[in-house]
Amino acid sequence: MSKGFLVLFTFIIGIISAQQNPYYQQSAKYKMDIDVDAENFTYQGKQTLTYTNNSPDELNVVYFHLYWNAFKPGSLMDQRVASQGKNGDSRLQKDGISRLASIPKEEEGAQNIHWIKQNGKDLTFEIQETVMKVNLNTPLKANSSTTFTMEWDAVIPMQIRRAGRNNREGIAMTVTQWYPKIAEYDYDGWATFDYIGREFHAPFADFDVNIKIDKDYVIGAGGTLQNPLDVKGYDSNAKIKADQNNKVTWKWTAKNILDFAWAADKDYTVENFTVLDGPKVYFVYQKSEKTKLWEESKPYVSKFFQLMNAAFGRYVYPTYSFIQGGDGGMEYGMCTMILGEATSLQGLLGLMVHEGGHSWNQQILAYNEAVRPWMDEGFTSYFESMVMHQLFPPAEATANPFVGTIDSYRNFVKRGIEEPAVWFGDHHDNGSAYSFASYVKGELFLVQLGYIMGEENLSLTLKEFYRTWKLKHPTDRDLMHIAQRTSGMDLKWFQNYWINTTKTIDYAVKDVSYGENSTTITLENKGSVPMPVDFSILTKDKKVINYQIPLNMTHVWKKKDIYGDFKTLAYWPWTQKEYSFTIPYTKAEIALLGIDFSQRLADVNPEDNFVEVK
Ligand SMILES: [Zn+2]
Repeated sequence: MSKGFLVLFTFIIGIISAQQNPYYQQSAKYKMDIDVDAENFTYQGKQTLTYTNNSPDELNVVYFHLYWNAFKPGSLMDQRVASQGKNGDSRLQKDGISRLASIPKEEEGAQNIHWIKQNGKDLTFEIQETVMKVNLNTPLKANSSTTFTMEWDAVIPMQIRRAGRNNREGIAMTVTQWYPKIAEYDYDGWATFDYIGREFHAPFADFDVNIKIDKDYVIGAGGTLQNPLDVKGYDSNAKIKADQNNKVTWKWTAKNILDFAWAADKDYTVENFTVLDGPKVYFVYQKSEKTKLWEESKPYVSKFFQLMNAAFGRYVYPTYSFIQGGDGGMEYGMCTMILGEATSLQGLLGLMVHEGGHSWNQQILAYNEAVRPWMDEGFTSYFESMVMHQLFPPAEATANPFVGTIDSYRNFVKRGIEEPAVWFGDHHDNGSAYSFASYVKGELFLVQLGYIMGEENLSLTLKEFYRTWKLKHPTDRDLMHIAQRTSGMDLKWFQNYWINTTKTIDYAVKDVSYGENSTTITLENKGSVPMPVDFSILTKDKKVINYQIPLNMTHVWKKKDIYGDFKTLAYWPWTQKEYSFTIPYTKAEIALLGIDFSQRLADVNPEDNFVEVK
């Protein structure tokens, strides 16, 4: 190689490495031995964690989450609930007073670390309530592994939020976010969020967990049980041999999941069924009159997995467990903890479809829920609306499953307390503003994208996003990259308006003037978010004619849509407040005209969108 070539080559390599920000993700392997004292709701834990640093950075510290330390009076969670009062999460308070303030001493949650070693040598650590910073003896170099061992004991807290003892349906132990869990390290640095109330982030990990517990308990967990013949509930041929303390050991494994969770109760029944071309599904619950709808839900749950596999991409794990427990519904690796008593099949399935749906949008596409709650909650809600619409088609046939969500969007906006969806989950001032930003705005983010790009492009985008990013940690940027590539459209403006601001869409039909052979319509943009406009007429002989007014910023327009074919009109620049156009139909021919017959556009004042022609 000549010197000139070498210089050129080095220069090119320099450009490549300056431009590339190669994706990496950390990996972890946990081996845990847990000894439960069921009577006292405590356990002793031993953990061996093999942690691999796939980042280009050398690490001198690592962080662990100790979530249960939040469940005591005076904790950060307690302070936050107290200062938010009635604006906070209703599950954490009673009449605006924090429930954490009155946890009895013996029911305070705890994770007490006895010691932690790296490759057999003691490490020093500092604990700030729910976050433990561990100083490494030997820096962990890029692309290398290390082994941590530790011992700790824990108190299963009074059930305040998610985890805990004796939930309101009488489940003895909901054991979630329960072990010292290594924090995620990625391009954004360490995810060292205190446990204030909202959600989680973690590296993918393999789990090998032995849980020793009184032989009368049945465990439900997100994983594969290795010894069903030794324990109660899973195999009718089981021969339970307890040790001298009347305990048996449950052996669970799980591969490449975000979080291992389990629950235990003496009165659990375990049932299973296999979804055609899908996972083996376990139901672990207390069978009673109040939970009789679980039986009826089974064919719907099968259909749910099949619909999700087809609409988004295949569920990747061999099993999935619906476990009665917790305080509502929360997703974990290969399982969910849900309240099980239900008064309607649709209510129970809504919960199952939502929490089960998080397998795709959280457990497999592992977003940082603390930073981008609108992605995991919003996208899950999107698919929930879609699947529920297919499981329970409404009496009044409509192709749009999102009408209800758009209604709740309009109602909430009127309250004037909206906060931008870009805010971190725990940092919203108002609990319902958090829910709105995450669930409703996140869902409508995809609905509006479908309206802008066309539903076919949205579907292709979502499938490609899942295919590319499953079992990784995508961000909104990764999704938008695929959306723009698939549609050819510039969509950055939309994301900026919808996620970073609380601006709203409001278009109106301002004027209609009827000519001899045609009709001229003037539309007005009264809102603060520009959008392309779908405009349609219904003729007196019941034909629908669709027009599309592209927004200049997208530069490409949708060709057609499941909602119809569109004739494309001249584009509407976002800087212009009014727009007029003429269509070759007369007053005598038109029955109705207006904006967005599909009812996907999240226009806050739809009343002025239509004109009935009499
Ligand atoms: Zn959710």
